[in-house]
Amino acid sequence: MLYSELADYYSRIESTTKRLEMTSILVEMLKKADKNEVAAISYLTLGKLYPDFSGIEMGLGEKLVAKAISRAAGSKPKEIDDLYEKAGDLGLVAEEVLKRKSAQLLFQPKPPTVLEIYSILDKISRSSGGGAQDEKLAWLSGLLSGLTPNGAKYLVRTVMGKLRLGVADMTILDALADLYADGDRTLIERAYNLTSDIGMVAEALAREGLEAMKNLKPTPGKPIRPMLAERLQSPEEVMEKLGGTLALEYKYDGERCQAHIIKGEVVLFSRRLENITPQFPDVIDAVAKYVRAKAAIVEGEIVGVDPNTGELMPFQQLMHRRRKYGVEEALEEIPTNIFLFDVMYLDGEDLTNVPYLDRRKRLEEIVDCSGSVKLATRSIISNIQSFEKFFEEAISDGCEGVMAKDITTASVYQAGARGWLWIKYKRDYKSELADTVDLAIVGAFNGRGKRAGTYGALLLAAYDKASDEFCTVCKLGSGFSDEELFSLPKKLSDALVKEKPARVNSLIKPDIWFEPKYVIEVKGAEITLSPVHTAAFGKIKDAAGLAIRFPRATGKWRTDKSPEDSTTTQELVEMYQSQLKKIT
Ligand code: ATP
Repeated sequence: MLYSELADYYSRIESTTKRLEMTSILVEMLKKADKNEVAAISYLTLGKLYPDFSGIEMGLGEKLVAKAISRAAGSKPKEIDDLYEKAGDLGLVAEEVLKRKSAQLLFQPKPPTVLEIYSILDKISRSSGGGAQDEKLAWLSGLLSGLTPNGAKYLVRTVMGKLRLGVADMTILDALADLYADGDRTLIERAYNLTSDIGMVAEALAREGLEAMKNLKPTPGKPIRPMLAERLQSPEEVMEKLGGTLALEYKYDGERCQAHIIKGEVVLFSRRLENITPQFPDVIDAVAKYVRAKAAIVEGEIVGVDPNTGELMPFQQLMHRRRKYGVEEALEEIPTNIFLFDVMYLDGEDLTNVPYLDRRKRLEEIVDCSGSVKLATRSIISNIQSFEKFFEEAISDGCEGVMAKDITTASVYQAGARGWLWIKYKRDYKSELADTVDLAIVGAFNGRGKRAGTYGALLLAAYDKASDEFCTVCKLGSGFSDEELFSLPKKLSDALVKEKPARVNSLIKPDIWFEPKYVIEVKGAEITLSPVHTAAFGKIKDAAGLAIRFPRATGKWRTDKSPEDSTTTQELVEMYQSQLKKIT
């Protein structure tokens, strides 16, 4: 496929605000692609070259890109600057100047294919050291001069890390399901959840069809999308849900971490699947020393420990360590422990389909607890008294609550899913009506009076997993300090978009739209029915969605969560229902 053909699909995707239409354009595009192109096309359409966990980003600077455009089009740098000032998008500038140039050319240059473009972008992203800037400039201007104006527009946005077609991994999975599985996403999604690599999944489908999905296994080096917990608000409900006998584990308040051991080397991934290896040299050493396996994927919570008292520290302080100190200094100030609670892969064996109790046993066999690697404290309980006792112990040992886990043979590791096999029960529930929720920022309203110059309120949304949409639940205006309030426009500026993003479902029209990117923690008084918010619309009552009443920012930005990790509309439904139960 020529890159300019791909760019034409992008134009069509960009011109629709309907998600279904977007998916069907993706289907057409993937169908047209050759087997060896689908991986590259999948990454490129997401504005990337590799899966997120690779940590390789393009993000070329404005100056270099402007120079490359001026060189490719033979225009003066001043002209590029002026056009940029007017349009605010170097992609549009490239399109405009190349249009003029191509009108003057007698012979059009040979247009590059997607794979040619991809391989040069790959070189650009890897080039570093002395002379790298000149090299990148030469490559990029070379690419631009061979492209159609429309192709140049999208290439420029891609290299600047600003493609933003509104397509997400789940949108591509839907298109792949339409193309290869009659619209049934189950097998494809599982393969994706086990590998987090959309390109690899797409290519395997294109080469071998749906059958290939059954053979995809976890691979050390590729993070597994984390299994997530549901929540309930009383020990009684938890016990009932899990059939009376269950495992309780401490719920540590730290940073979730997946440790991959590959031939003696250790790689760490965060909850968002980012490679966080460089931030925790202490954890790397500890895992290498105390986990006995040649190849493994284990999961746990990294928690800061007070070196003076040996007590566990709260999440905030661990995050603080990152900002305040260099890594080395932080190691002394706040050493860490990692509390392992799962193993998903061990020396060639996929353990994700093995029940929880057996996984835990395998984990116990490979962990030596004499150093800073520990096992999550765990107890099997079958009555309320022991539940409450364990909960109190967890709190007094510095944890935020407990994690109840199903111990039946059905208790597999559900990668990428929030389900009832794990149920969290936190301290907050005892004292407050509602738990905090984590919501994606999708819009803002201009402030007036004292808030002139910043936003008066933000429009927040929950994630609807079934439709892959962000549905609004509240306007958030309180809980911010003045300083934070006035820093919002700058902080959110890179998510700003001109029109409502296709995956945002809103009846409200804010002054400003944002691509879902930032996730903020919110505390609300209760959940109510609302005709103006779209979360779980029609689920509880016709023509009404769910809203959060009296929302207030807690001050915590959930940078560890991607927008798709926001509280889901399904969770809101459950919170609404259990709230009703409490009242009656
Ligand atoms: P929260 O906002 O409550 O931290 P979350 O949305 O980040 O939750 P959940 O799946 O709802 O994620 O809660 C589970 C989280 O608790 C896990 O992501 C993990 O980081 C943490 N955790 C702490 N201890 C355990 C444990 N023993 N087993 C599983 N997860 C644990």
